[in-house]
Amino acid sequence: PTFADLGLSSDIVSALTATGYLAPTQVQARAIPAALAGRDLLVSSPTGSGKTAAFMLPAIERFAENQRNGVKRAGQMPAQSAGTYPDGRPRRPAPQPARPNLLVLTPTRELAMQVSTAAATYGRHLRRLRCVSILGGVPYRQQLELLSKNPEILVATPGRLLDHLERGKIDLSYLQMLVLDEADRMLDMGFVDDIEAIVAQTPADRQTMLFSATLDGKIGSLTERLLRNPERIEI
Ligand code: AMP
Repeated sequence: PTFADLGLSSDIVSALTATGYLAPTQVQARAIPAALAGRDLLVSSPTGSGKTAAFMLPAIERFAENQRNGVKRAGQMPAQSAGTYPDGRPRRPAPQPARPNLLVLTPTRELAMQVSTAAATYGRHLRRLRCVSILGGVPYRQQLELLSKNPEILVATPGRLLDHLERGKIDLSYLQMLVLDEADRMLDMGFVDDIEAIVAQTPADRQTMLFSATLDGKIGSLTERLLRNPERIEI
């Protein structure tokens, strides 16, 4: 199949062609139509198989459709007046939390940065698509500045994301899609409680896509709690 056959629109297909992606890989050919149909995904595919695009392209397609249809992003609130100072100058309202639509959890900083780069590449024809990485080791102030732009996409390692959630800087109640990338590695690194705490703050009707090198053992019980009737794809 071609990328267009999978249901991606022409501006995204041309961004892919310009990147040198001429045809979908196996995991993309199976995952993209299922994800566009709204299915949860449970995918085992090796690194290098093109799995980043398998989840990022359907997400970006959804953002593009919303933009074309003029759908306003849920969760954007009009700026509240915060009153004035005694001398009449307006007070600056407290920043609202970021309300992302897509959250990608990754085990490492390196992977998070790759995913962010991919989002920027695939979505470069869209008018407004902001992607922010939330990583340990980056100064808070710098991350808060980026979060204040209310990005559509967050890519995060679990520990630092939880810090921001606990401080009220991120609100996951408008999340539409959740991706767990390299879920087996996140479990090996001891992130299971962090993942559960994060997922508990997301809506039950979200779409969830889980990628892992293996689907056995510990992954099994996590997928039962996180995924609803997933399309199972093994490459
Ligand atoms: P990933 O498995 O997502 O880490 O991707 C592995 C590499 O394959 C990355 O360098 C991608 O840019 C590249 N890639 C992904 N999908 C395609 C495709 N359909 N055609 C050509 N290259 C691709």
